[in-house]
Amino acid sequence: MRVLIADDSDVSRKLLSRLLEQWGYEPVGCADGEEAWQILSGPDAPKLAILDWVMPRIDGIEVCRRLRETEVGRQVFVYLLTARSKPEDILAGLEAGANDYIIKPFNQAELRVRLRNGRQLVELHDELISAREALRTQAMVDPLTEVWNRRAFMDLAAKALSRAGRIGAPTSALMIDIDHFKRVNDEHGHAAGDVTIRAVADRVKDVLRTGDHLARYGGEEFVVLLPDCRAPGAYAVAERVRRAVQRAPVTFDGGALEVTISVGAATGPESRESLEELVSRADGALYAAKNAGRNRTMLAAPIELADTGT
Ligand code: GH3
Ligand code: MG
Ligand code: MG
Repeated sequence: MRVLIADDSDVSRKLLSRLLEQWGYEPVGCADGEEAWQILSGPDAPKLAILDWVMPRIDGIEVCRRLRETEVGRQVFVYLLTARSKPEDILAGLEAGANDYIIKPFNQAELRVRLRNGRQLVELHDELISAREALRTQAMVDPLTEVWNRRAFMDLAAKALSRAGRIGAPTSALMIDIDHFKRVNDEHGHAAGDVTIRAVADRVKDVLRTGDHLARYGGEEFVVLLPDCRAPGAYAVAERVRRAVQRAPVTFDGGALEVTISVGAATGPESRESLEELVSRADGALYAAKNAGRNRTMLAAPIELADTGT
């Protein structure tokens, strides 16, 4: 773990650096408060900092105070290291936001333990942050297919659609449904059904562009938002997706089967339509594709725009 050492005395900085290296830390040295502030408020800052109180330009107390005013700065565990040992000095240091206060000349064994405590707190905090991120992702991703779930899609797609609306870009949506999927479950079992759903998701994902949003909309239904995509483009993507699914049989434990999908596509007129309306038109086109015999793409009719006279 990297530790910032801010001290204007070369000798004490070097002594401290050497100790820290011995204890397995990676010291980052600087000679005044301004530099310390720049490093600690910059990108990828060390999470532990040992600040001398008296330094040129900005003193350690002021660096502390500034750190506590920022979101990232609050995450730095700060030690004030100083020869000032009066109770009111200690109080002032802690009040400025220092986590710990070490009086020079310090006892090495004590400093080592105090550093370990700080490091443990920083690590615990990092673990909590990653656990929270993982939970957030879990709440957005469908566990079977690892594409977005419906709720995450409605969120992401609504944002993409309003962005498109601002710049006047057309946006399309695809609704995808596996054909005769009940037969897969009935004839090969639920596990084979799950494998099939996952295979379809993978094949669809493979032929989409980076900015497209794919989600599992329901059981064996998927939805795709295609930003910056007009009707002919949407049709082309839908057909590419459909052929990618049909190209090879899906293999599972004990068998292989041909899988096809039907696709409905709709294009929004520069997004003067809500996401729900756009998806609902794509769903209507999907229904038509099913009725027309499945394993095909149908385009929703373009919606009539009221002439605004502009
Ligand atoms: P169609 O061509 O008209 O779409 O026929 P279909 O048989 O696919 O009909 P429908 O879309 O109504 O059937 C969906 C079926 O998907 C119903 C349900 O049993 C099954 N299903 C939904 N979610 C899952 C799942 O997570 N795993 C498995 N194995 N089956 C699922
Ligand atoms: Mg189906
Ligand atoms: Mg269905």
